Amino acid sequence: MVCADTWATEIGTMGKFKTIDVLSLHRVEQGTSGGVSLAGCTGTILGAAVISFSALYWITFNHLSFILLILIAGFAGSILDSVLGTSIQTQFRCNVCKKNVEAKIHCGNLTTKIKGIKWISNDAVNFAASLCGAIFGIIIFEILSFK
Ligand SMILES: [Zn+2]
Repeated sequence: MVCADTWATEIGTMGKFKTIDVLSLHRVEQGTSGGVSLAGCTGTILGAAVISFSALYWITFNHLSFILLILIAGFAGSILDSVLGTSIQTQFRCNVCKKNVEAKIHCGNLTTKIKGIKWISNDAVNFAASLCGAIFGIIIFEILSFK
């Protein structure tokens, strides 16, 4: 799911697409934590689909349920990643280019923390989101397999 998130971020940052904050719905800079765009969502689905298809090589049970499971888990994980990213993740502002960034250093200078909880980094958010996405996926799978 981290793979799917990374793809989403990369594809989302590539094009000139409108990016909005997943919670406030305000327009934000591309690449901002918690920012979602149409391209980002498409990237998430593609990433999750690639993981699903490669997983089919070692999975023998109900393929359709499994693809669905991974898609839902990947999507849920990505949405959660954005929600956590915009709410509790530490965010910094670059003092040089004045952009909101995830890094402690930008443009070769130390950035200023503007919001979020000190120890919650982008990695921590990615991990939590992937874990929750996977748990959510397992729950969905249980529901599908007992119908
Ligand atoms: Zn900068």
